[in-house]
Amino acid sequence: MNFKDQFVASGYDSLHPILKSLLEAVDRWSRQYDSKPITLTDTLSNPDRDKELGRVSAAHSEGRAADIRTNDMSKDKLIAMLAYFNEKHAHLGYMSFSGTRRLMLYKSNPPHIHMAIGLDVIEKNKGKYPAWKFPQHRKVKDGISKRQDG
Ligand SMILES: [Zn+2]
Repeated sequence: MNFKDQFVASGYDSLHPILKSLLEAVDRWSRQYDSKPITLTDTLSNPDRDKELGRVSAAHSEGRAADIRTNDMSKDKLIAMLAYFNEKHAHLGYMSFSGTRRLMLYKSNPPHIHMAIGLDVIEKNKGKYPAWKFPQHRKVKDGISKRQDG
């Protein structure tokens, strides 16, 4: 698995363990498909950054979403990947705007796959991962939250 940059790599550890194991499965699938690893273009975010990016969902700030680069994939690979993981692991996904439960969603601008697990999935599996906590984002005085670096 590759990372777009150091910021994306450093956020990986804060992701929920279920999401990390799914990303590892996608990476294995990808390397079996055409010998190429996946590249993550986003992992953990923070509310300030989400706002700048115009995101409506807090999934990245909550450590339950990651983005996968697609402009290094063939169209066939992209379709096969989405079909396989959405079908096999839909029960772990989240409700998309279309009202269907999806683990992976293709987004066109910029082109990437958004992969996210549902808040209900985290709640349901709480007992299995007692050490995992939602990432904390420091509140600053103007009321905007910031990712805690320390
Ligand atoms: Zn995303």
